[in-house]
Amino acid sequence: MENKKEMRAWLDAMNLDHPLVVAGPCSAETEEQVLKIAHELKDTDVSYFRAGIWKPRTRPGNFEGVGALGLKWLQKVKEETGMKVCTEVANAAHVKLALEHDIDMLWIGARSTVSPFIMQEIADALQGTDKPVLIKNPVNPDLSLWLGGIERIYSSGVKNIGAIHRGFSTYEKTKYRNKPKWQMAIEFQNRFPDIPLINDPSHITGNRDMIFDVSQTALDLNFDGLMIETHTDPDKAWSDAAQQVTPSTLIQIMRDLKIRKETD
Ligand code: PEP
Ligand code: MN
Repeated sequence: MENKKEMRAWLDAMNLDHPLVVAGPCSAETEEQVLKIAHELKDTDVSYFRAGIWKPRTRPGNFEGVGALGLKWLQKVKEETGMKVCTEVANAAHVKLALEHDIDMLWIGARSTVSPFIMQEIADALQGTDKPVLIKNPVNPDLSLWLGGIERIYSSGVKNIGAIHRGFSTYEKTKYRNKPKWQMAIEFQNRFPDIPLINDPSHITGNRDMIFDVSQTALDLNFDGLMIETHTDPDKAWSDAAQQVTPSTLIQIMRDLKIRKETD
């Protein structure tokens, strides 16, 4: 895959004077929950509201998302707040439904990026869409597998692309839920300076107390944006409770982060 200027056109067109911020709950739980969080995030620097509706849980028996019903709630977020919305897609049926419901941006989760078959299926379903598609790194630290996934999406005519560094599974005990590989992120940026690189401190840390520090490290490394899970009642969240922050904490984090300018 070659580096292509067109890949970051969607982000440049937003003309932001700060990194891109994507925020919202890990999972859409109820219509009220989704709308409450969205209303607290509108009129902030958040550009895209996120909520997962098809949830890739590691073990069965946990909450697996509200499914297609959540698409209607995301449409309501758009109508009521004017925010753009995004959700995770993990197969062709998800893509079809999300595009039919005019979801503004899609992301592909770490458990999907590992599978070339699923990436090809998603790529075929996305064929030619002008919606931005963000591809999370695979769960294992394999840069080629990540690039291969991006290539499949790009090759199916999706020009608006982004990548999300969400850290990597490891069996060793570390303070992270998914250990970041900053060196890999730097290599990624050097090889593909025109693919926006977004950091996901929520899934890297698994711990809301570490969100600020990891976000600052990412911005110091010139990441283009942050995806931060945000919930009005984090401790009661139906998934990823320990890592979600409240909207007011998110606003404070955004205020405190030092943004590195190109000229620094
Ligand atoms: C998520 O963003 O809620 C999610 C499931 O992420 P990941 O694919 O990084 O585990
Ligand atoms: Mn999550």
